[in-house]
Amino acid sequence: MRSQTTALILSHFREHGTATRSDVSAALGLHAKTVANAINTLRDNGLLVPAGRRKSDAGRRQELFSINGSHGNYMGLDLGATHIIGILVDANCSVLDRVVFDIRPGLGVEIIVSQLKSIARRLAASSQRTAVIRGAGVCVPGFVDPRSGMSIVAENIVGWRNVHLREILAADTTAPLFVEDSSRALGVAERWVGSVRHASDFMVLDIGYGVGMAIYTGGELYGGTNHKSGEIGHTVVVPDGGVCACGKRGCLETVASGRAIALDARAAAREGRSSILMDLAQGDVDTISAADVSVAANMGDPLAGELLRAAGGYIGIALANAVNLLNPSHVVLGGGLTNAGAILLDSVSEALSLHTMTEIFKELQLSVSGLGVDGSAIGSAMLAMLSASLPTD
Ligand SMILES: [Zn+2]
Repeated sequence: MRSQTTALILSHFREHGTATRSDVSAALGLHAKTVANAINTLRDNGLLVPAGRRKSDAGRRQELFSINGSHGNYMGLDLGATHIIGILVDANCSVLDRVVFDIRPGLGVEIIVSQLKSIARRLAASSQRTAVIRGAGVCVPGFVDPRSGMSIVAENIVGWRNVHLREILAADTTAPLFVEDSSRALGVAERWVGSVRHASDFMVLDIGYGVGMAIYTGGELYGGTNHKSGEIGHTVVVPDGGVCACGKRGCLETVASGRAIALDARAAAREGRSSILMDLAQGDVDTISAADVSVAANMGDPLAGELLRAAGGYIGIALANAVNLLNPSHVVLGGGLTNAGAILLDSVSEALSLHTMTEIFKELQLSVSGLGVDGSAIGSAMLAMLSASLPTD
């Protein structure tokens, strides 16, 4: 519970500016001693600083604290199948700099790694203008080993296996480096600066090129035996369906992911079923992406709308299965594909309500992430900040 307590306390200071120990204890419903210990640690680590005193009702002068905005900056790197997003934030989570690199399909591992390093160097240089970098987080899809800092495999990036990200980036930043899965990084961001700050049992669905999920139970991330939980994209929605990137058949990702939507759109465009998509791709069918499909759907293209609605239906089914299993209080929909808007999200919500048990659905709050495409990068930076905020014992 310690990391949740720290995260909640920092969020409280971010929202309220200054606060006393008893303000925090009362607002968060936490035991006074727990709050005092956590605030002392944050003060010792330099993240919180004294900010004067205030007289309490009992006449005692209580110490006020606030976040030390100049304590240091944090870097977040999100490496996806289609992009690298790098951001630099200060201790208040204000974004100071942002760099984006689009990954073209089939780009080699070596070039991707070199771009990642180049973005890390640029953000480190940018940070020098304000404060030192206290920590850096990098997230990738697929399986990671946070202890060794290794990205084990990312099925949606061709040839990406056993990439030792911590070692690779060590030359470009001297700050402690944390490696996490992209969907879990999005979960961290939602929990820290998003809409589920006060929830303990929630799911964050990350719908992008692939589909992943961060699961929180009792306020902590549920990691599974070897940190491989949350693979909702590889739950089966079409028995004996198409072959998935994971090697199995009929996974959610084969019918409802950025990758699947792009492939279906290309096939349909080849058959001449969408003039808007052909225009967006300037005639080059192989470049049609899920983002193009979202644009086309919102321009009224019937085929694009049909593809997104079908994908949303499958996502809703997989999500209903997960919700029935774990009874979360909140589900947050995030990731790049949510940019498609109501056309996709309404069909997710419809299928979710149709397939979730009525009693469980009544208790569920469904929302869309407000963090946009930067969610996982922000979460990676937050992860580094959270690790720096905890006692080192
Ligand atoms: Zn699969």
